[in-house]
Amino acid sequence: MHRYEDSDDNLTEVFLNVMEEHFPQLQFLKFKLIYDLKMRVSKGRLVLASVETASPKIKYLSKDKIAIDGYDLLMIVDQKAWEVASLDQRVKLMRHELRHVQLDETGGVRLVGHEIEDFHIEVKLNQDSPEWRMALATLTHDMYEQEKLMLKENKNG
Ligand SMILES: [Zn+2]
Repeated sequence: MHRYEDSDDNLTEVFLNVMEEHFPQLQFLKFKLIYDLKMRVSKGRLVLASVETASPKIKYLSKDKIAIDGYDLLMIVDQKAWEVASLDQRVKLMRHELRHVQLDETGGVRLVGHEIEDFHIEVKLNQDSPEWRMALATLTHDMYEQEKLMLKENKNG
């Protein structure tokens, strides 16, 4: 069994819709969307999703029919988080992750942190539920805990 799984239609659809509506300037980039089946924690926080630029090696190894030169970026989404998220939270999550991707003057890609001006837009867009990230992270964490318990019970029973 692999740790990662390919994106399904739902993830791809939400991703493409968010891209079209909010980030048309990024549409020329090739994103590889995958699910992570394992919980990730960074700085004490559960990671719902992350985006990273593909190294030359990954780019080469990821060549396929859709991206004949390989993918530019990887979007890695916690599968449990996606399962339990509402459509609204899914949109917020994709929008947040894509906000990290910026183009420089030469059209090159760079990733930026949360401190930049652009993330103020997110705060505004998320006014309807400013605590969405925390709520989804808590729910996702509970799912992992439940899974752990079930695995234990199966072993004992
Ligand atoms: Zn972020």
